[in-house]
Amino acid sequence: MHHRPVRVRFAPSPTGPLHIGGVRTALYNYIFARKYKGTFILRIEDTDQNRFVAGAEDYITQALAWCGISPDESPENGGPFGPYRQSERKAMYAQYALDLVNTGWAYYAFDSEEEITARREAAEAEKTVFQYDASTRASMKNSLTLSAEETAAHIAAGAWTIRFRMPEQREVVFTDVIRGEVRVNAAVLDDKVLMKSDGMPTYHLANIVDDHLMEISHVIRGEEWLPSAPLHVMLYEAFGWEAPAFAHLPLILKPTGNGKLSKRDGDKGGFPVFPLEYTDPDGQTASGYRESGYFADAVVNMLLMLGWSPGTEQEVFTRDEMIAAFDLDRVVKSGARFNPDKARWFNEQYLRMHSAGELVGALQDVLSQRGIHPAGQAENPLHAICEMMLERCTFVHEMADAAYLYTGALEFDDKVASKRWKPESAALMHALADALETLSSFDAAHIETAFHDFVTAREMGVGAVLPLFRLLVTGEGGGPSMFAIASYLGKAETVKRLRNGITKMQAKWA
Ligand code: GLU
Repeated sequence: MHHRPVRVRFAPSPTGPLHIGGVRTALYNYIFARKYKGTFILRIEDTDQNRFVAGAEDYITQALAWCGISPDESPENGGPFGPYRQSERKAMYAQYALDLVNTGWAYYAFDSEEEITARREAAEAEKTVFQYDASTRASMKNSLTLSAEETAAHIAAGAWTIRFRMPEQREVVFTDVIRGEVRVNAAVLDDKVLMKSDGMPTYHLANIVDDHLMEISHVIRGEEWLPSAPLHVMLYEAFGWEAPAFAHLPLILKPTGNGKLSKRDGDKGGFPVFPLEYTDPDGQTASGYRESGYFADAVVNMLLMLGWSPGTEQEVFTRDEMIAAFDLDRVVKSGARFNPDKARWFNEQYLRMHSAGELVGALQDVLSQRGIHPAGQAENPLHAICEMMLERCTFVHEMADAAYLYTGALEFDDKVASKRWKPESAALMHALADALETLSSFDAAHIETAFHDFVTAREMGVGAVLPLFRLLVTGEGGGPSMFAIASYLGKAETVKRLRNGITKMQAKWA
């Protein structure tokens, strides 16, 4: 199948931030290139100046970089097939459009916008739809219907387009790697504009010319481009070029499964649909996975599984495993439903893969942003927090949510306090504080031993003492190991919290 060297491209139009669907397209192209020792190209399709958004290309570059999806050839890195921005290739396209006019595969059209609108409205009045195609082109103003002199005069006047002449009696047949054979009757296809008089090619022409010149072997792109594929196949035939293989990836659907995942679903559902936070030119900000605390690798893994299945139970893949396991034949045909809980699940898996030491830097960043400091007196308090919290969190920033780790000014949970605090609790807790005060080493193991000795000596159950200990030291009814927390806080702070807590409890609950 791979008779040509694998060269694949991700070809976004810089019309706004890259949606996670676009990141997935880039990812599949990238993995495919790596798998077949091929080349992954980033090509910026910016010929439509009306839809151009400043900053969008930078956003795309940064988003791919964050995800570790690095192009071998790109506007930034250059390469032997550059330039990689279509606006910089503008001068190349005209000759190809003219070639098609000369071979009869395209023609000049001179209909004004008003004339076309009039035809459209006339068709609507008859409950039909106007299409510039094989059935209507003979009644339009173009180089097929006008004389050579009239045609020359119109071209000289400078208001023209070049349209593809879609053959009327043809079945366009091609094989999509994911969908199998696709057959379309050319009679339903319109004569798409390839080039306008300002010299700008349309998407279709520029895309095919560039895929050819850049020796693209496989076109891997979203399903929304499937309707354009028959035209593209015909363009390859018209040019006499070998067409690349096509693979149209399934849509990413809303969590409900009804329709395409959109920016608004993210706004409503409280999850990001963009890799990085994006502020549009009007100042509106949409959240990003990066800013929401996701690991890039978790997002990439989540996207890998959104439309592809390994055929096994495995869900978590390293980069190398992805490259080894992936192929286009296991990409699913039906839409892939986005699941925000699954995204969080992946982040949790990736969080657990880190050691506490690896997370200290990220936790420090969050604490600095929030302007809070560890209350623990242990030698390496950040490390201790990461160790305690690692198994209990989905995101690093959740490690900063347990207030008692950062302040001794506790807010006591009244429900827990009213349930646990008894008149005799004060004496018991003072005795525990006394016992802890005598410890010479305050690591978790020593605290745990001392605690158990304390409980056993009183012939009490752990459950009668530990919740009170936790309440006084953290204010809460649950959390990581109390021995770890106490060790993190250090002896002085733990004992202080115990005694202060007793006073507070007595004042409120007697
Ligand atoms: N510029 C198109 C886009 O924005 C590229 C489609 C394709 O890959 O052919 O998605």
